[in-house]
Amino acid sequence: MPTTTETQPRTGAQTRSVPLAMPHVPRSRRSREEVEAAAPTGAKKVLLAAPRGYCAGVDRAVIAVEKALDHYGAPVYVRKQIVHNAHVVTSLEERGAIFVDEVDEIPEGAVTVFSAHGVSPAVIDEAQERQLQTIDATCPLVNKVHREAVRFAKQDFDILLIGHVGHEEVEGTAGEAPEHIQIVNSPDDVDSVEVRDPERVVWLSQTTLSVDETMETVERLRRRFPALHNPPSDDICYATSNRQGAIREIAPHADLVIVVGSSNSSNSVRLKEVALEYGATRSERVDFAHQVDEAWFEGVSTVGLTSGASVPEVLVQQVLDLLAEYGYADVEPVETATEDILFSMPKELRAALKDSGDSSRQIGGRGEKPQR
Ligand code: SF4
Repeated sequence: MPTTTETQPRTGAQTRSVPLAMPHVPRSRRSREEVEAAAPTGAKKVLLAAPRGYCAGVDRAVIAVEKALDHYGAPVYVRKQIVHNAHVVTSLEERGAIFVDEVDEIPEGAVTVFSAHGVSPAVIDEAQERQLQTIDATCPLVNKVHREAVRFAKQDFDILLIGHVGHEEVEGTAGEAPEHIQIVNSPDDVDSVEVRDPERVVWLSQTTLSVDETMETVERLRRRFPALHNPPSDDICYATSNRQGAIREIAPHADLVIVVGSSNSSNSVRLKEVALEYGATRSERVDFAHQVDEAWFEGVSTVGLTSGASVPEVLVQQVLDLLAEYGYADVEPVETATEDILFSMPKELRAALKDSGDSSRQIGGRGEKPQR
């Protein structure tokens, strides 16, 4: 039985801020005094979620591009956004990374990084045809779901992949066994699912979904297919679960929850939804501190703050600085899990670095021994 229903947070990787360029944060449109005056007269504070921000898979993928740029020189091509964060992508572009949608946009033989969200076998084949020098930065936890899909397809199961249609990770996983996989986009999709044999059906999921909504989908699937098989272990990853766990703790006490993360970041968007489901009066998502709107603070005593798994900590610190300007200088960390997972660098990069005598950062985000 998978443990995706757990409400307790699980362990994973600590956040890490990379030395990326700091965006300019415009001055407030209202004065600090005006924003403070709009808030209640009682104590104002910030509940700061922990864990938040970078997960081990994002850390590894960003470092992989940085190391590829250092080792091979610019340009380094990256298929899709390496991680779903506007600031990270812009900063890597400034260093010489070129982001493309498909491999046919990449010159033959060029150094190419596959993003953390993974690729289908068809993309790998096309890259080989173009003789691209590939570095696969697919998160190991996404690769785990790929392996599950391949295994169940070999056993001739119908695979119900719970995930968002059009998301790169879902496209990559579905591409492992397109003839066996159906995508289930939401609980409402369950009624239209058709399978060949109700005794040989298994569900898998995207790694960055809402834990609660996924289990609702699974329960509805099980009502239709009582013999539904479970994945061998959680597909929703530790980082997604932990960040949702922290915001579930904060949301009932917060008048406003601010989530730092990009609009195409699935786990960031889910954090905003979870905040509202668990009692936050209001929740807003921003890429940058300058997008925080003073009008949100009308009547607000307690602000919850978190960030998605692809968000560098520097962006959270800028929001904290802005909140302090508005009188929310009292910051109380709410830690619901500790994380210490690190992943090895992609094997192609490890080999290249070793051959050149570069022993830095061959393993893990901070040069530490990887845990899994
Ligand atoms: S959110 Fe989870 S699956 Fe996605 S990169 Fe991070 S650790 Fe990997």
